[in-house]
Amino acid sequence: MASNQQSSIPSVDRGPADETTPETALETARRQLGRAASHIEIDAAALERLKHPAKVHEVTVPLEREDGSVEVFTGYRAQHDSVRGPYKGGLRYHPEVTRDECVGLSMWMTWKCAVMDLPFGGAKGGIIVDPKSLTDDEKERLTRRFTHEIRDVIGPTKDIPAPDMGTDPATMAWLMDAYSMQEGETIPGVVTGKPPVVGGSYGREEAPGRSVAIVTRETCEYYDYPLEETTVAVQGFGSVGASAARLLEEWGATVVAVSDVNGAVYDPAGIDVAAIPSHDEEPEAVTSYAAAADVTRLSNAELLELDVDVLVPAAIGNVITADNAEAVAADIVVEGANGPTTFAADTILDERGVHVVPDILANAGGVTVSYFEWLQDINRRQWTLERVHEELEAEMIDAWSHLREEVERRGVSWRDAAYIVALSRVGEAHEVRGLWP
Ligand code: NAD
Repeated sequence: MASNQQSSIPSVDRGPADETTPETALETARRQLGRAASHIEIDAAALERLKHPAKVHEVTVPLEREDGSVEVFTGYRAQHDSVRGPYKGGLRYHPEVTRDECVGLSMWMTWKCAVMDLPFGGAKGGIIVDPKSLTDDEKERLTRRFTHEIRDVIGPTKDIPAPDMGTDPATMAWLMDAYSMQEGETIPGVVTGKPPVVGGSYGREEAPGRSVAIVTRETCEYYDYPLEETTVAVQGFGSVGASAARLLEEWGATVVAVSDVNGAVYDPAGIDVAAIPSHDEEPEAVTSYAAAADVTRLSNAELLELDVDVLVPAAIGNVITADNAEAVAADIVVEGANGPTTFAADTILDERGVHVVPDILANAGGVTVSYFEWLQDINRRQWTLERVHEELEAEMIDAWSHLREEVERRGVSWRDAAYIVALSRVGEAHEVRGLWP
């Protein structure tokens, strides 16, 4: 890329040696940005802009509880960058939502959309609330009021929310309805991840797990691990982990371990993953399976250190850290969760020759099918599940191949390749559009 001034970010950042305080999403996102910038020529002004969110909206969301009392919650919508298209990203209902977390996750969304070459920028939002403490009616009222509070900054051409932790298709339907009622017309394109009956896309729910399975398959083939001879351990048996595990098993891999929040089950001969309901279908089903089947029980920490070909962390962030990265025995790590590997752990894995396929590619099936949903909403025409699968497969292989070229050409890790591709696309768009006014 042409540049008048190159970035001045130091090229070697190994991350903190001491990880006693977990790295925040924003810290990780900024470190990754710095590392990617050290590999390419990027306009210094564009890089400086990308270190900061364009806007962070903080709103107050009052809710009348079932007992008649009124409680006031805080909600955020962080909008990082929209140079390539409207902001796009999930809405999280969780007690530990923070402004910084929303900003960090919104930056990841910018890179995720750019890696997939989708015409979207990055956003993330949430409400500081424990969704389990709300009745369905309270959750609906909270969502409708939050939608009202952020109404001016969202929209099908401005910012398109989607489900994330603590939110689901029903939440998205309420959001779409509240927005549409206030606008005076039905506007399905304001949000993705809706139920198909109101403009949602078939295949959206299992899309992140499907993309994890597709990139695992491609990466295994590339490094000469025939799937039929490949062993896989999956942490987290929810929407992402269960879909990925089931598909990989269907395609011939041997899934030897899976886990949920209560622990893991391990069988070197293979777990019958199709027999275990996912977290969504039946919480704690992995534990019930452990009681019924002849399998070894392990902790989640032990699962991460199993001697398998492929490890898929698909539960929560920051599970592979400087403390256990040396003990990870898998040859390939495919990140199903967002941010499962800390920056310092990533450096250790890279030095040990472990191939880490990053989250911003691996689980990008979710935002990719969200893009398909947005297209379907604009065109008012629903695609079949077969078409969604075909188009997702094509998009994933295209993005994966693009990264593979960078890995080969520059001799960098898959994560660096992903950030180089994403930052080049976003940086170039900034450079071409320029700074207004
Ligand atoms: P989910 O709630 O459906 O499932 C989470 C699974 O992880 C459950 O099996 C749960 O028991 C387990 N788990 C929870 N806490 C754990 C812990 N401390 N240790 C081990 N296991 C634990 O969630 P999901 O939608 O599958 O999301 C999983 C990850 O994937 C998250 O990081 C999420 O941000 C990311 N992700 C999700 C989507 C999506 O659309 N669902 C898209 C992209 C990325």
